[in-house]
Amino acid sequence: MLFLFSDTGGGHRTAAEAIDSALQRLEAGGVRTEMIDAFAACGIFPLREGIKSYGALLNVQPSPYPALFHLSNGRTRARIMTELGKPFIRGNFRQLIERLDPSLVVSVHPLLNELARETINAIGSPAPLVTVITDLVTIHHAWTADASADQYVVASAEAVRVCTSRGIPAERVHNLGLPIRDGFSPPYDALEAKRALGLDPARHTLLVMSGGEGGGRLRSILRRIAGTVRALNLQVVAICGRNEGLRERLTALAPRFREDAKILGFVDNIADYMRAADVLLSKAGPGTIAEAAACGLPIIVCDYISGQEAGNLAYVESRGAGVVALEAPEVSATLRRFFRDPNVLREYRQRALESARPHAAQDIARLLASMLPARAKVAVS
Ligand code: UDP
Repeated sequence: MLFLFSDTGGGHRTAAEAIDSALQRLEAGGVRTEMIDAFAACGIFPLREGIKSYGALLNVQPSPYPALFHLSNGRTRARIMTELGKPFIRGNFRQLIERLDPSLVVSVHPLLNELARETINAIGSPAPLVTVITDLVTIHHAWTADASADQYVVASAEAVRVCTSRGIPAERVHNLGLPIRDGFSPPYDALEAKRALGLDPARHTLLVMSGGEGGGRLRSILRRIAGTVRALNLQVVAICGRNEGLRERLTALAPRFREDAKILGFVDNIADYMRAADVLLSKAGPGTIAEAAACGLPIIVCDYISGQEAGNLAYVESRGAGVVALEAPEVSATLRRFFRDPNVLREYRQRALESARPHAAQDIARLLASMLPARAKVAVS
């Protein structure tokens, strides 16, 4: 089984890894999987460099990325964009597929579906193509272009409606949730979860995240809420992902909180931090939202990537899993509301848990396993 992804943001890779590990458990290691960052492995200049610049595009202010998203987000425009990119990846990608000869191809990236379909058809491979859409609500047309996948996995009823409104038959769209890795669940012992990370169990913890690239307006918001954080005696843990510049800037800002504020780069154990936290302050990344919900961790959404994450704001609020507060005064007011009345936080925690789909990766793995040639007759959910 071949998983196609790209390290643009953190969500595509973690989704693929989550499905892979669920599949290995389900099949007791009986399915061989390959994880391929397709643009890094097969792309050539300038496509490979263009895709690699995603983090940089997000982190310059004002970011040109939203304009690129909107300019390319249309049925025909998405097609044109894909066609323009193909000459810079097609040859190597075809060789890769021929060499690996997968029984099933799973794409977890919007720009790889059409290319995978074209290549599978060109070499006469019988491998079905499954697209796992790793956005919750706002679905770029590149995900659904030409309805080129045999099956689509989506994470919300809203996403089902988008897919069917674009002509994908409902029986090919499976609402199974966003795949998240193991370990995202409420802590058995919240104090112990804090202690295990060297945090003060006697104080509330505010976890701060901004996706895999650590982009956006995080620093300016943190600077302006520092007084509230101190007044509420919150312990801050900020995870900056791959953004070293942000890490340095937040480290310089840290004395405005308390001396024990932790400013971290990319960490592999996000689940541990989420289980130890009382509230998450984050941009509206779909993976982060799904992971926090599974931990029963209320989220304050303070930023979003215009375009692809726009729908996630209403998603969070409609589920009651958190609050959207895009300006510092609103963030401060929300923190006061959360930490001055334990009932408020308890209710959000409960609703976050109710909105969670912690078994998404297993359900998707089951669907994929049922599509492998030897089990083609097993019904898919
Ligand atoms: N992540 C991580 N370590 C970090 C920062 C982020 O493992 O230091 C993971 C996070 O848990 C989530 C993903 O990266 O699974 C971020 O995905 P999301 O969809 O929230 O945002 P993106 O980075 O794709 O914009």
